[in-house]
Amino acid sequence: MSTSRRRYIFLIVLLVLCTVLGYGRDVRIGLLSYEDLFSLTIKIQSGRYELSAGGKMLTLTPGGNILVTKAGERLFVSVAGQETIVADSLILRHSEGADAVFSLRNNIVPGPPGQYNDDLVVKPGIRSLLAVNVVDINRYLAGVVQSEAGYKGSLEYFKAQAVIARTYFYMHSDRHMQDGYNICDRTHCQVYKGMSVTEIINNAVLITGGMVLTNKDSILVFAPFHANCGGQTEVSGNVWLNNEGHLKSVTDPYCGFSASAAWSREISLEKWLDYLSGHGYRHNKLSDLGFDQLSRKKYYRAGEFVFPLSKIRLDWDLRSAFFAVEVKDSSIYLDGRGYGHGVGLCQDGARVMADRGFRMREILNFYFSGLLVMDIKDAKADLM
Ligand SMILES: [Zn+2]
Ligand SMILES: [Zn+2]
Repeated sequence: MSTSRRRYIFLIVLLVLCTVLGYGRDVRIGLLSYEDLFSLTIKIQSGRYELSAGGKMLTLTPGGNILVTKAGERLFVSVAGQETIVADSLILRHSEGADAVFSLRNNIVPGPPGQYNDDLVVKPGIRSLLAVNVVDINRYLAGVVQSEAGYKGSLEYFKAQAVIARTYFYMHSDRHMQDGYNICDRTHCQVYKGMSVTEIINNAVLITGGMVLTNKDSILVFAPFHANCGGQTEVSGNVWLNNEGHLKSVTDPYCGFSASAAWSREISLEKWLDYLSGHGYRHNKLSDLGFDQLSRKKYYRAGEFVFPLSKIRLDWDLRSAFFAVEVKDSSIYLDGRGYGHGVGLCQDGARVMADRGFRMREILNFYFSGLLVMDIKDAKADLM
């Protein structure tokens, strides 16, 4: 069976399951932030939990502590004040209906422990422990929105981000099936740093329950976003390979007053010329180097020399590819606008639109041309 066919069948099964279960279903999130994980301290914060490990079952209430360490291909599970168990896996399951929260502290990241809703499965992986948060999809999405969209904003902004996060989840929910979970908690998938403590975000996710973004054929679409577009969003083909119909460039009048709307950078003329020469520039004519970008362009031009702006952005770790170049004395001055790749929804602009009374659908329609917001049960997966 081809990969696309397997993916299609998986998505159909997923969509049917969602319909049957009314979306309030659990998803499995790989907590890869805990890489090189050899020990994990779990603490019950609220609710009542059942711990299953090594054929034993223990009840845990708030304050209950569990230390898990990897011992070869097995786990050592120490339950504070009770006993130590040798196990192949650990399952921490909350009681039905309870508002259950546990925290995780690991052997790598210092600082306060992460807080997570619902359940946890820990297994010994090949090199380190594998921790999977089994969590209600809406709680997961609220955590993503809080991690990806910040805490500041009004309801319609967070509703737009919730629809984007949900669309992304359904498009990629089989991405890590071979690893034993749906999706990971890093930028590879969507950043998820645990539960959302922001009421307005939790409400935005519940109000938009089941809603996703599709094209006119009801197919789920890639809906990227970035911090600030600098006044004009970018077409997808200037950043990635394909030009997508819904990712056109729009003039954005809303994001100009944000702190990340402008940036500048000074680079020595010598370093700039070295860089350009390394990529085939041969003229050394200073008057060639100046460059304007009143509206977004794909290439930097210096005389006959033509070079992708997106590559310059990556190589120099610039905030955006939307910048002008000025030569002054022995330096190059980059005068830039925006923060991020610039494709799709501009978060600063969307936040201002929501503050000014625009609704979630209007915000999404402004940044993504011709898309529909529909229920996941009416949407289809892309067969490609
Ligand atoms: Zn991932
Ligand atoms: Zn913008």
